[in-house]
Order: sequence, then structure tokens, then C-alpha cells
Amino acid sequence: MTPRMDRIREAMDRLHAAAKAVKRQVKLMEVCGTHTMSAFRCGLHSLMPKNVHLLSGPGCPVCVTAQGDIDLMIELAMNHDVVLCTYGDMLRVPGQRGSLERARGQGADVRIVYSAMDAVRMAKAEPDHKFVFAAVGFETTAPASAAAVLEARRLELANFSILASHKRVVPAMLALLEDPAGIALDGFLCPGHVSVIIGADAYLPIVRHHHLPCVIGGFEEIHMAEALARLVEQVRDGQATLDNAYPEVVTGAGNRAALACIDSVFGAIDARWRGLGVIPASGMAVHGHMQRFDAMRVYDLKPLEDHEPRGCLCGQVIAGRVKPTDCKLFGNVCTPINPIGPCMVSSEGTCAAYFKYGRHEEKVKSGKRKVNLKKCATTPSPHGRGLG
Ligand code: SF4
Repeated sequence: MTPRMDRIREAMDRLHAAAKAVKRQVKLMEVCGTHTMSAFRCGLHSLMPKNVHLLSGPGCPVCVTAQGDIDLMIELAMNHDVVLCTYGDMLRVPGQRGSLERARGQGADVRIVYSAMDAVRMAKAEPDHKFVFAAVGFETTAPASAAAVLEARRLELANFSILASHKRVVPAMLALLEDPAGIALDGFLCPGHVSVIIGADAYLPIVRHHHLPCVIGGFEEIHMAEALARLVEQVRDGQATLDNAYPEVVTGAGNRAALACIDSVFGAIDARWRGLGVIPASGMAVHGHMQRFDAMRVYDLKPLEDHEPRGCLCGQVIAGRVKPTDCKLFGNVCTPINPIGPCMVSSEGTCAAYFKYGRHEEKVKSGKRKVNLKKCATTPSPHGRGLG
């Protein structure tokens, strides 16, 4: 066995030993969609102790974007004579009246970008067109969006603005814990990439005020096994501490330059999340002194109401209340080819992860539902990349 395999085996042995000592069910939440996909990809669920359950949380940025915000992007692309730039994962998210992909088919100029700065470059190269960057993501992508706005200001671009739907992770974690209808969790597996930016100390309110273990983990199997072992050991020992199991890249204070970049462009606002409602100080709005780069102001846009797709349980999936296989549409009406909700579209979506990796296991386990494999595609997002 390689040293790496030895380390994974050792972590899994510790995880099982700790779980054996806990004489009850243990519910852990992986907050981040990248962890959701990684756990399925490396078969972690099948290796878990029977009494330890890994639930998916509100960490897929595409999935948590409110339906009204999706509709606003489509409205902007269709009716305001702009070039709408966004990440690939957003293209197929269904809105009330189609998707950005359909809007493009109907003549709207919708372009996929791999970085916010691509949109700035295009705006500079095509001064006769107005560009809007529809920005989603957590603190991982927000610094790049902020840097794009600062660059547009430096270049004195009059044809670039941003429609910001960025979210902050920790307020959502706190909202989950404070929800009276929420599930009782035993610990959080905290996302490594977000933690690089916000720093480990950002999770201290969860540990101090809710006495819940938080362990920061990376995304390879060795990282996840180690972080999960440490979480269950805390549960076994009745502890609730903040533990950084990804110290090679995560510091206590985070990336100060990236945080300063965010703060120079965005201020905290109460934001709407799919499935979680309005969460105080969980969103990012362009500061007033940057208003010429704020698409909401430039195009006089008003927030739109949220209309969830009928029958779609994405809101509950995001909150960890149900599994994708509890949704009657899963695998039959809703597939990666024909997604009904964002959780089936995004490359980090829980429904996409279950469809790609977990449906065979669930089918055998429950015996409840037959998945129509003929309708299946194996790739959840032909466009996407993870947004963290
Ligand atoms: S399976 Fe489809 S319809 Fe059901 S919750 Fe997931 S995305 Fe929504």
C-alpha cells in the first residue's frame, strides 16, 4: 500500500472506531457542493459507518441563487439590449420563462465566461455593446468579481456593469442552525476553498454560540476522510471546537487582500436564498459610490418574486431536509438532459451528484422508484465548472 493509501486507511479506521463509540445516529453536513461531488466521486458514502450520515448543505452557488434572481438575469438578457456574460453552470438553470440558454436561442446575446475579467476584456474590445456580468458564487468567486469592477473603473469603461448575486457562507450555516424546522446536526464539514478566503476564524460563532463542531477540510479523499474522522471524534468526546484540517492552505485570518478587494466593491445586504428565504447580511451589493457599475441601478431593475418549479424540492434538498431521491421528479421527469431545478443543472448540485453517482445505490437500497436510465446523460453539466 502507498503512504497515501495508508493515511486514508488510518483516517477511515479512526472514523469507524469513533462512530462505534457513539451509540446513536450522527448527522454531519458538508456545506459545500464541491465536497458533495468529491464524496460521491471517491465512493465515500459507501465507506461510511452505518450510523454516520453525510448530508448536503447550501453550498452550491448556482442552486442557492433565488429563482427571482435567475428570472432577472433572463429579463436583462432578453429586454435590455445587453451582452449578458456568466459562468457556464448558470446557462441551463430553469427560470419562470425558460433559461438563459433558451434566451440565447431566441436571439439574446448570452456569453459564457471563465472569469469575470473576461467580461471586462470583452467590454473594452467592443465599446458599442453594453456588457453585464451576472455574478454568482460565494467568497471564492466574489474577489474576482470585485477585481473586475475595479479594473473596469481603472479603464473608465462606461459599458460594463455587474448583476451581483454573491452569497456569504457562514450566515447561511447560522440560519440553518437557527431554523426551528431545521434538522439537528452534529457537525459541519467546512469548505476548504471558501475558508482560504474567509479564514478559519470565521466559523467561531458557530462553535461558540451553537456548540457545534466545525472541521475545515480539503477536497481529495485523504482530506475528507481526515476531516470526517476528526468530526466524529469530537462528537464521541462531547467536544465542539474549530479544527482546521487543511492548514496547508487555510489560515486563521484568511486572505486579507481578497477580503479587502471584496469590501472595496461590495457591502453586506440581506439576501434571498432558494429554500432558506431571506438571510440577514448574507449577500453582497455593489457600494453606492460604485453605482455606475451596478446593473440593478444602471438598468433600473426591481427584484422579482420567486416562483419555484412545480414539484421541485431543491429548496429542501439545499437545507438538507430531504434527499434528491425523495423528489418524485428525480430521474424520471428531471434529469441532467431535462433539468427541472438548479440542483440537477449545476456541476456541484446535489441532485446532479446523486444522479451521476448515487442513483444505483439508492435504487437498490430503497426499492421505491425505478430510474429511467434511457433518459440519462452521464455528465451533469456540459458547460460548467465549479464555482465554490
Ligand atoms: S430532482 Fe430535479 S425537480 Fe427534484 S429537487 Fe432535484 S432538481 Fe428539483
